[in-house]
Amino acid sequence: MSNSIIEVSNLSVEYTRNGKKIRAVAGVDIQLAPGEILGLVGESGCGKSTLGKTIVGILKGAEGEVLFNGKSVEKIGRGRRDPHFLNLQMIFQDPYGSLNPRRKIGEQIADGPMIAGVSKSDALKKAQSLLERVGLPANAVDRFPHQFSGGQRQRIAIARALAISPTAIIADEPISALDTSSQAAVANLLVNLVEEFNMGMIFISHDLSIVRRISDRVAVMYLGKIVETGKTEDIWNSPSHPYTKALIAAIPHADGQSFVPLDLPGDVPNPAFPPSGCRFHPRCPVAQSQCSSVEPLKVSLKDGREVSCVLQEAGTMPKAITF
Ligand code: SF4
Repeated sequence: MSNSIIEVSNLSVEYTRNGKKIRAVAGVDIQLAPGEILGLVGESGCGKSTLGKTIVGILKGAEGEVLFNGKSVEKIGRGRRDPHFLNLQMIFQDPYGSLNPRRKIGEQIADGPMIAGVSKSDALKKAQSLLERVGLPANAVDRFPHQFSGGQRQRIAIARALAISPTAIIADEPISALDTSSQAAVANLLVNLVEEFNMGMIFISHDLSIVRRISDRVAVMYLGKIVETGKTEDIWNSPSHPYTKALIAAIPHADGQSFVPLDLPGDVPNPAFPPSGCRFHPRCPVAQSQCSSVEPLKVSLKDGREVSCVLQEAGTMPKAITF
């Protein structure tokens, strides 16, 4: 994708736990275009949050590259942020944890514009208008995080991310800690803001139903790897990877009747000891004889999606997966 704001190429991220090296992200490629929402889905522990944190430079990659508007995020550094990267923002699951409890909301939102050279009074005015834009009263600038509900605090975190006109936002489970009534409202707010600001957003979630509702494209992650990427409706209507099919089958459909529990054998394997060959093979209901030894190549299908499974053939329409 030539006009990508975010370009992740062959990215691997490692950490050490109990003396054992764990590759949490293993050779991932994804792109994000302006105005696009990419849903990143997978079970807990699959590496999607690690991937998000590496994209914004919080974690360092062991191999590969992440470009934001053409510049490597390795250059973000720990100290004063390179102005190029001010337009790359992250929203976290726990808005309270990402806000300073002892500082007024307005000051926290004004930080970004002030780093970018805006005067304090103008930055505070901007904070006020952004708070109103995300549905909070303008006088919230003078209040502290504990004076707001969880949903309101996430709105504050969103206002702070918007304060320096971001071109890309990485939203890591931004609604999963909120009560049900706030979830839809905050998700709708994010969708509207992506369009209004022509940003791109990577929306990280374990909840495929919300991802289906708001995303243009979906990337499905399993044990550190992206196993399928494509347009949301294509993937939803005809998943081409067995894991995607199982994930979709496990969520309640709108008719309330098609719900089939996720019924894969075993749990997600320990990422310290990933299975050989296709990492999904111990749980795959349609595994082939070669799957335990040969890692499937990523292939591009005729409808534009990319998938890593021996059952699919490059350049053809996706074959239906049945089990
Ligand atoms: Fe299943 Fe084999 Fe495809 Fe992996 S490559 S998802 S084990 S069929």
